[in-house]
Amino acid sequence: MIQIEESQADVVARARRLMTPNYKPQPVIFVTGEGPFLYDRDQNRYLDFAGGIAVSCLGHNHPVLAQAIAEQAKRVLHVSNLYFNQAQIDLADRLIDRSTADRIFFCNSGAEANEAALKLARRYMRTVRGENRWKFVTAKYSFHGRTWAAISATGQPNYHEGFGPLVEGFTYVPFGDLDALEAAIDDETCAVLMEPVQGEGGVLVPPEGYLRGLREVCDRKGVLLMFDEVQTGVGRTGKLWAHEHEAVRPDVFTIAKGLAGGVPIGAMLCTEEVSKGFSPGAHASTFGGNPLACRAALAVLDVIEKEGLIAHVERVGAHLRSEVDALSTRVPGLTGARGRGLLAGVGVDPSIIDRAAIIDRCRRLGLLITQAGPDALRFTPPYIVSRSHVDDAVATLERALKGEGA
Ligand SMILES: *Cc1c(COP(=O)(O)O)cnc(C)c1O
Repeated sequence: MIQIEESQADVVARARRLMTPNYKPQPVIFVTGEGPFLYDRDQNRYLDFAGGIAVSCLGHNHPVLAQAIAEQAKRVLHVSNLYFNQAQIDLADRLIDRSTADRIFFCNSGAEANEAALKLARRYMRTVRGENRWKFVTAKYSFHGRTWAAISATGQPNYHEGFGPLVEGFTYVPFGDLDALEAAIDDETCAVLMEPVQGEGGVLVPPEGYLRGLREVCDRKGVLLMFDEVQTGVGRTGKLWAHEHEAVRPDVFTIAKGLAGGVPIGAMLCTEEVSKGFSPGAHASTFGGNPLACRAALAVLDVIEKEGLIAHVERVGAHLRSEVDALSTRVPGLTGARGRGLLAGVGVDPSIIDRAAIIDRCRRLGLLITQAGPDALRFTPPYIVSRSHVDDAVATLERALKGEGA
């Protein structure tokens, strides 16, 4: 029960008693949002450069998205995959038209999309190719989600702690190193799974040519190439899909975060050939592709296309990186801009700068940012931010780095 007379601090204390202790939320209760801003219970305003961790691509309370959701809610929310629904078919059509994929499977999150990809890869090798290929190669510092297979795919030991034994068959190689990848693939390997830009690992862009090199190695070794575009997809890096930066065609790719602008959804897209690994009953999701989520995703794609937001992401992202590079020359402990488009960050020397303290100070000064990997602060604002929002964010970060907001 919401008690209006409670203070924000009271509600935070209540929340901390109710939830399982696997998160460490900041002491603020958001109640509304508008464009790139969020408002807490005490009407304080925050410029949202966290973006729900690269989810809220149209910002908050976007009129087109809000209306699409409301209208779909009045028609039908859910029917299950025992039946077709119009929104799912329209979204499938749109995503396949705008990508090199031929087929799509819908689910509800990034981890589930990767789970589908990993299951499909194994089953395709066994049932279609008749080969005993069941192992995967992924990258160190990768992040693929929190289901058992997804943490097993994730090349960061801290996500494994206490959960062993993991799903068998995963090997991790340094991100960006094609020789190490080639050496890690054996005749039991079925697929390589990679983020085109590592998000959680620290906003790491691989060397030029790496994505094309992955395709070349996978082709030569007869294994599938799968991209985890859960964070990079749907325009975040300044292309609709990050693998378009090197014009590579993956066998499988997964998406989720930004796809429906904040409504839970995930999807796995694949070629016609690889889709043969699934037959009726092989895999499923009760909620996957329901009319509400699919209508929301269609609205997001409409707005992105009509407003030319991907070109804007490219431009405003370049501006953000150049301002962050300039800031790095003024403030000790910053090691320069990282990222692509609005998946951006700044390198931080953790022995000089306490990232958690900076994030707290930024919040007190009205700016939301996140951290990523061992040594980065990350900025994943909505695509609708202007140059002046970027300038405000960098100015606030500078104040926080100089000790304000403590
Ligand atoms: C966030 C993320 C996931 C996990 O998505 P969930 O929706 O939290 O399951 C998987 N892969 C990448 C690259 C991500 O950034």
